[in-house]
Amino acid sequence: MARRESRWSRLQMSLFEGGFTSSLSPLQAQGSPVPAPVPAAMPPEAASPDRAPSRTRLLVDAITVRLPGARVQLTDNKTVLLSQSERDGVRLVRVHQMFLDAPTPVRVAVASFLAKGDRPSGRVVDAFIEERGHLLAGAGRALKDDAHVGAVHDLLPMFHAINRRYFGDSVSAELGWGRAKALRGRRTSITFGSWDQRSRRIVIHPVLDQGPVPALPVARVLHHEMLHAHHGERRDRRGRRVVHGAAFKAEEARFEGAHEADAWFDLHLEALLRWRPGSALRLT
Ligand SMILES: [Zn+2]
Repeated sequence: MARRESRWSRLQMSLFEGGFTSSLSPLQAQGSPVPAPVPAAMPPEAASPDRAPSRTRLLVDAITVRLPGARVQLTDNKTVLLSQSERDGVRLVRVHQMFLDAPTPVRVAVASFLAKGDRPSGRVVDAFIEERGHLLAGAGRALKDDAHVGAVHDLLPMFHAINRRYFGDSVSAELGWGRAKALRGRRTSITFGSWDQRSRRIVIHPVLDQGPVPALPVARVLHHEMLHAHHGERRDRRGRRVVHGAAFKAEEARFEGAHEADAWFDLHLEALLRWRPGSALRLT
């Protein structure tokens, strides 16, 4: 059963999906980290989901084209997202795994920023980091006991209902609403939910905890993230991470109200992108 690929599902990605395990040219680096500077707008392109060639390859290639000979290491360091150092004439670049999900212009900006340190690239990188900030914030800490209670939606009863209906009560996860950070510049993509394999935590974007948002779209995102919890990390025969494989998509399509929920996201995507923390969400 083929489901129309909605704009939402194309935009819907997760920083932590699939775990924290990718690493190329591992190496104990020394040297001072170079965090990226301040934010602005992102190029108008939606992020693309996982497709061959692997996202790791794309990111590493983008960097090594501009920094030939550099060794690239993917990290899950929560405070230093981008750094480089040189040792014995070899440049070591450390890049947070969040950039695996970056659309092409952001990957190019990462490489250009590392090579030249130019401000326009730095701004593109920062806008991307800022968009995902709510997923990084507090990622290492335990969630509060009531992190699932939102202003409008409580994720816990929803979780129990979905767990019973689709997963035979087999999914265990920590649940919480994300904390949105102020965002300068225009948002061109939004991550509605994330699954962190290590802490077994689902975080939902606070834009969905707003008055005009019905329960169905929230449940749709929650179900998607619970599928990640259910499937765990999978790899194909070539060792590449499979994030949204065929089995995953088939199960996702079984969600009752899937079409209605996706249509809601399609209809309101612009309004959701425009929303800023502290303001009321206005659906058009
Ligand atoms: Zn996903």
